[in-house]
Amino acid sequence: MAYDQNNVFAKILREEIPCAKIYEDEFALAFNDINAQAPVHVLVIPKGDYISMADFSANASTELMAGFFRAVGETARILGLESDGYRLIANTGSNAHQEVPHLHFHILSGKKLGPMLCR
Ligand code: AMP
Repeated sequence: MAYDQNNVFAKILREEIPCAKIYEDEFALAFNDINAQAPVHVLVIPKGDYISMADFSANASTELMAGFFRAVGETARILGLESDGYRLIANTGSNAHQEVPHLHFHILSGKKLGPMLCR
């Protein structure tokens, strides 16, 4: 599957549409989810045209992969989530209801979350 340059996160990276930014560096951008499912709901996306973890791990540089995962951790630190904890989710493909075809990690926290979803 080819990367869709018109997906909403590509538009956010090109600053064609706004976002509520939490963190940004050369590798990644973190911003609030527009439809929060928890008191803290932040998305972290890599800077590059990657649809999924499989795509990212196969095609991204080692520097970008390291930078992206550092950005996920840094975002959690900035949000002050280390002590009470948080959940990371990366929905992938249709079985997981991935809506936006640009790799993204959800950071969810701010309350006691329910059990892991597997239904
Ligand atoms: P997923 O189902 O894992 O692909 O999640 C996509 C997420 O992107 C959803 O939680 C949406 O609420 C969120 N989303 C869609 N458009 C925007 C936007 N313009 N700004 C912030 N979050 C968005």
